[in-house]
Amino acid sequence: MKVFKFGGASVKDAVGVRNLAEIVRTQGQNTVVIVSAMGKTTNALEGLVQAYVHQQIESIQSQLDGIRTYHTDIMSELTGDFSHVHQTFAHLENYLKQPVTDFHDEIYDQIVSLGEILSTQIIAAHLTETRLSVHWLDARQLVRTDTTFREGRVDWEVTNRRIKETVTTNGITVTQGFIGQSFDNRTTTLGREGSDYTAAIFAYCLNAESVTIWKDVPGVLNADPKWFDKTVLLDRLTYQDAIELAYYGATVIHPKTIKPLQNKGIPLYVRSFLQPNAPGTVIGNYERHLSIPSFIFKVNQVLISLHPTDFSFIAEDNLSRIFGRFAQAGVKINLMQNTAISFSVVVDNIPDRVATLLALLKQDFRVSYNDGLELITIRYYDQGTIERVLPNKKLLLEQKSRYTAQLVVKDLD
Ligand code: ASP
Ligand code: MG
Repeated sequence: MKVFKFGGASVKDAVGVRNLAEIVRTQGQNTVVIVSAMGKTTNALEGLVQAYVHQQIESIQSQLDGIRTYHTDIMSELTGDFSHVHQTFAHLENYLKQPVTDFHDEIYDQIVSLGEILSTQIIAAHLTETRLSVHWLDARQLVRTDTTFREGRVDWEVTNRRIKETVTTNGITVTQGFIGQSFDNRTTTLGREGSDYTAAIFAYCLNAESVTIWKDVPGVLNADPKWFDKTVLLDRLTYQDAIELAYYGATVIHPKTIKPLQNKGIPLYVRSFLQPNAPGTVIGNYERHLSIPSFIFKVNQVLISLHPTDFSFIAEDNLSRIFGRFAQAGVKINLMQNTAISFSVVVDNIPDRVATLLALLKQDFRVSYNDGLELITIRYYDQGTIERVLPNKKLLLEQKSRYTAQLVVKDLD
């Protein structure tokens, strides 16, 4: 049994849905097909959530119409019985008429999860029409999480049991990425871009022979083509390389995806849905043979430096207090460095969280910060690769380990 994952870009229109059907027909007998919401539907649903929680009635209506038209247009170019899709829209419309509660993260999950329900309903109907033997499954019945809305944490025991009991090894199973359900039957989501993780969850529970993520790039590249003219396709990566690259911000695979696969030695292929016969990248249990440098750029970073107001050392007691504050503000650290009496961290600039964090830190520390920065990570660096990224940049902080260099820079112009 194999697991395929198709992201939003691969099913953004009817051509994409037909292409998925063709890939599944030719390469995917006995496969679990995990699908994301179509195109930018998740963003559109996020907009709808905002309109709903602020009760902007006209905006609710116009955004809902936009989402409906987008899906209806796709269906109009395909054939199949789409009655379930219409039921989902009726359910959404009805939900939006209910009074708003204060639990915005919960509301978010109830609404945003429907993007995946819609996409899989359309795709399953279309696949059935092409005479494939298709089972549509509701991932909410299978992926059990806690009640951390928008970032549900998986209960592996229940999830494992349910997936093993429910998924048949014959034919094609179509189900949703990104969504789950808490023990009290409320829908949860696994965090933005979480469909890759869902693919890994299913693969782990089913002891799948492989996972393939079908993308609009030929595989894992050594840099985002947005930043570099010349990029190199990495044909093979170790789990460790993949997890490091994803952790430092390479957006090609969701960082949580690797662990379940590594734990069971399941290979992960990253391949192009535009060139479905090209080999792409395979991630697995390999000897590290790769030394092509990879570059990851994260923009919109803030460098925060802390100095204890009483001139005390940065030691265990200070550190545990500092980390506690970061956890409290929900801010993830991308890089840290300390000296005797200062501690510097680099974080994503999520304005409200950073503001909360700064307020908490200022209780005990003198705090300075510098925003509008870039964090550049180079895996398998050498001096030449570092120099390559530094022209026109001011280097504020640098940290090197054996294989990875991280540079915090500011544009000079
Ligand atoms: N549709 C969700 C998102 O856009 C999940 C995913 O695409 O992986 O974040
Ligand atoms: Mg997506």
